[in-house]
Amino acid sequence: MSCYFTERFAELVPYTPGEQPQDMQYIKLNTNESPFPPSPGVAAAVAAECGKLQLYSDPESRVLSEKLADVYGVCSDQVIMTNGSDEVLNFAFMAFGDEKSPLVFPDITYGFYPVFAQLNHIPYREIPLTEDFRIDPEDYIACGGTVVIANPNAPTGIALGLDVIERIVAGNADHVVVVDEAYVDFGGESAVSLVERYDNLLVTGTFSKSRSMAGARLGFGIGSASLIRDLNTIKYSTNPYNVNRMTAAAGVAALEENAYYMDNCRAIIANREYTAQALRALGFEVLDSSANFLFARCPGWDGGELYRKLKARGILVRHFDKPRIADFLRISIGTREQMERFIGATAEILEG
Ligand code: PMP
Repeated sequence: MSCYFTERFAELVPYTPGEQPQDMQYIKLNTNESPFPPSPGVAAAVAAECGKLQLYSDPESRVLSEKLADVYGVCSDQVIMTNGSDEVLNFAFMAFGDEKSPLVFPDITYGFYPVFAQLNHIPYREIPLTEDFRIDPEDYIACGGTVVIANPNAPTGIALGLDVIERIVAGNADHVVVVDEAYVDFGGESAVSLVERYDNLLVTGTFSKSRSMAGARLGFGIGSASLIRDLNTIKYSTNPYNVNRMTAAAGVAALEENAYYMDNCRAIIANREYTAQALRALGFEVLDSSANFLFARCPGWDGGELYRKLKARGILVRHFDKPRIADFLRISIGTREQMERFIGATAEILEG
């Protein structure tokens, strides 16, 4: 830290993104990207925008918002488009969290939540997951703060049903409930259908996972028009042109080819079930996943050691050196061939 760094952030511990190695080709199962390329229309849409980069993007992302609203069955004033869903989460924390409405989220969840809370100086409370790594909904009813729940949760992959989410939203009428649906397309139930009835519900989503666009940075929030207005106040006080021209065009093209992505999700779900079964046959404990990754541990093995041995064999997975989960690996689901190679390498390691 330099002597110029403000004291305000002296304690800030930044988020550590998963490795994006540039040195060699790995089978990359560490950051929950899609193994499939974007749909055919995306490249052409991006190319068409390249000649217009002298002009700012539309700060309202109108064409994209309307298309997204159409696909999700809401009005365009119930939608905000952002630079990845990390940005809409940060905006939501800024807009709805403070001393009177501290943030409440699980102890094991997306690692950016405590970082955004610290960055914005918002107090937060972490509620332990149960012994079997589940969210107990009772912990979140009338809990006196802004609730943030990833559904399915990360890195566990475990999903809550829509009825449970509705109880949590209804049980916190004085506070906003943020439901982070980054992984919902891989088997979860979306809470977007509740937005019409609950003005304290904000659902966030991303094009990074099911829509193969992690590198384009496109996310969104869906909520009541009044919540979206609040988020826009933050956005226009931070970065009005947050979605660039190429990404906005890519997003519209992707939504026009939505069926391609939903087919890919089905393939990933099938590969997930294959991998879970194969890992269980090797003796792993595998949590029930509704996401594009598995969270698994092998009795007698340290997660860090397995991670290193897999990396030496050209396979990257994610290991979190954190209390309660240090013996687990998070394995993103790739193509069938990638998963067969992962299973082969893991079997070899266990035998060796
Ligand atoms: N929420 C969860 C639970 C995630 O795992 C991620 C991906 N790291 C995000 C949000 C943010 O993804 P993005 O900014 O790429 O939309």
